[in-house]
Amino acid sequence: MSAPHFVIAGAGIGGLTMALSLARRGIATTVVEKRTGFGELGAGLQITSNSGRVLDALDLALPLKRVSVSSHGLMIRRWANGARVLEMPSSPERMPTPFRMMKRNDLHTVLLDAARAMPNIRLLVGRGVQEVSQDADGVTVALGGQNGEAISALGLIGADGLWSRVRDLTGDASPPVFTGYEAWRAVVPARAGDKPRVTLHMGPGRHAVHYPVAAGREINLVVVRQAKEAREGWSRDGDRAIVTEHLAGASQSLRDLTGAAEGWQVWSLFDRKPAAMARGRIALIGDAAHPILPFLAQGASLAIEDAAVLARLLADTLGREGAAGVPMAFAAYAAARAQRVARVQEESRGNGRNYHMGWPLSIARDFALKRLGPDGLRNRYGWLYDWQDAA
Ligand SMILES: Cc1cc2nc3c(=O)[nH]c(=O)nc-3n(C[C@H](O)[C@H](O)[C@H](O)COP(=O)(O)OP(=O)(O)OC[C@H]3O[C@@H](n4cnc5c(N)ncnc54)[C@H](O)[C@@H]3O)c2cc1C
Repeated sequence: MSAPHFVIAGAGIGGLTMALSLARRGIATTVVEKRTGFGELGAGLQITSNSGRVLDALDLALPLKRVSVSSHGLMIRRWANGARVLEMPSSPERMPTPFRMMKRNDLHTVLLDAARAMPNIRLLVGRGVQEVSQDADGVTVALGGQNGEAISALGLIGADGLWSRVRDLTGDASPPVFTGYEAWRAVVPARAGDKPRVTLHMGPGRHAVHYPVAAGREINLVVVRQAKEAREGWSRDGDRAIVTEHLAGASQSLRDLTGAAEGWQVWSLFDRKPAAMARGRIALIGDAAHPILPFLAQGASLAIEDAAVLARLLADTLGREGAAGVPMAFAAYAAARAQRVARVQEESRGNGRNYHMGWPLSIARDFALKRLGPDGLRNRYGWLYDWQDAA
C-alpha cells in the first residue's frame, strides 16, 4: 500500500512546517507554491518558546541557532523621551526553550533546506492551487500554470496566507479588512553595545519595535503608524521621508537608530474573521485560517503550532481509521485550535489598542505596567509561551 499523501498550498512558514511534521510521521506531501523564488520577505520574526518547541522537535535547533539571536528579555520605553516603562529580563529557568529573533528569510531557508532533504516532500514552485473538488475518497487539486496539472490526494491543507485561495474555495466570503495601520520595516547594521533583546517604544497612535537578527549582525526595525488606505500583497517600497516625518516626535535614541535605515518596506495590516478551519477533506492553517495583527508577534508561531497539532491528529487518525478518517482528523484539529487561536487574535488586537493610547490613558497604562512588574508580565503570558502540543 502506498504512503498516505496530502497536498499543501503554500510553502511559507506554516506550509513547510506542516510538510516536515507530516514527513516525520511517514505521510507524504506535495507542497505547491505560487511564487517562483524565495527572496527577502518580511525582515524579522520573533519565534517565541511555544513555536520554538515545535521547531526544536523537528531537529532544527542547530540550524536556527546559527542564524538567530536568543532574546535576553524585553524593554518597554515611552515614545517621546525613551523613558523606561518596564524591563523584563528573560528567565531561562522559567522558560528553557529560547525566545529566538531572526530574519524571516533565514527561518524560511532553514525550513526549506530541511524539506528538500526529505524524500517524501515534493516541492512544486511557480504553480498556485486554483480549484479543488472533494468526494468520499479524497480531493483533486487543480493547479494554475502552463501545464494545468491536477493532483489527487487524501486531503488539501491550505497554508496560503492572508489572501488564501483555498479559504475562498471553501466558500468563506468574509474578506480581509484593513485595520488603518501599516507596518514599516527595515534592517540596519548592529552597533557595539546593543543588548540582545526586544525593545518596544509606545506612542500615541504609533509604536516601534526593534531587535537583533542575523546572528547579531543586524537589527530589525518595525514602525507601525496609521494610514488612510491599504494595499494588497506582502509589501511595497516605502518612502524614507514619510517614516522620518512620522518619527519626528520620537526619542533621540529611536531617531538615531531608525535614521540609519535604508530600504524601508511597508505592509498594510489587515484583520480577518477566523475561518472554519476544516471542511471535509480541506483544512486551513496559519494566516489562511486566522490572520493576526503583529502586535503580539504570533502569526508565524500560530502557523507552526497549527502544523504540529494537525500532523499529530492526522497521523493518529489515519493509523486508527485509515483514509476514511481524514475529515474526522481535520474536524478534531479545528476543534483543538479554535479557542487558543481566538484568544491570541484578541490579545493581539488588545495590544494594538494599549500600545497606541494617547495621553492621559497612556499614564494609567504605564502605571499599570510598572505595578505588574517583570514577574507579573511573565506570568500574564504563561498561557501563551508555555504552550506544548500533546505528546
Ligand atoms: C509587520 C509584521 C511583523 C510580524 N512579526 C511577526 C513576529 O515577530 N512573529 C511571528 O510569529 N509572526 C509575525 N508576523 C506574522 C507572520 O509573518 C505571518 O503570520 C506568517 O508569515 C504566516 O505564515 P503562513 O505560512 O500562514 O503564510 P505566508 O507566510 O503568507 O505564506 C503563504 C504562502 O502561500 C503562497 N500562496 C499564496 N497563494 C497560493 C496559492 N493559491 N497556491 C499556492 N501557494 C500560494 C504564498 O506565496 C506564500 O509563500 C508579522 C507580520 C507582519 C506584517
